[in-house]
Amino acid sequence: MNFWQSKKLPEMTAEEWEALCDGCGQCCLHKLEDEDTGQVALTSIACDLLNIKTCRCRRYGERSQLVPECLVLQQHDFAEYGRWLPKTCAYRLLGEGKDLPEWHPLVSGTTESVKAAGMRVSGYALKASRIKRSEDYEDYIIEWLD
Ligand code: SF4
Ligand code: SF4
Repeated sequence: MNFWQSKKLPEMTAEEWEALCDGCGQCCLHKLEDEDTGQVALTSIACDLLNIKTCRCRRYGERSQLVPECLVLQQHDFAEYGRWLPKTCAYRLLGEGKDLPEWHPLVSGTTESVKAAGMRVSGYALKASRIKRSEDYEDYIIEWLD
């Protein structure tokens, strides 16, 4: 049995934990929370530190200092952050007791499958600095997460 099927998230080694990330970049998209319902929406607006082409953070080591709202995932606090993650994120899927999809690199054996499945944000994301007013963020909602 594969480690992600036999272990719970808090039981994984640091290497296993890191290997779960498929590099889609979706967690670096801005989210909006409805004040009345608490529902969370994902927008197509990316954090300015995301390299949209590679879907990698340009300042990964300093991300929590540079971007206070950056979601630094920890193995022990899934209940806290789970609802802020995209529905296809491996951490959210496993945290909800689901399995990894066929296109996940650990299953397919290649990172190319993430791109082929249309999961990477590089095809549609745009940098936050290009949006002039924060009130306009609502126009860029692509998905409700809850
Ligand atoms: S959404 Fe999840 S799988 Fe995708 S880059 Fe972020 S942490 Fe990794
Ligand atoms: S600081 Fe880096 S990891 Fe955090 S949201 Fe921005 S691009 Fe993503």
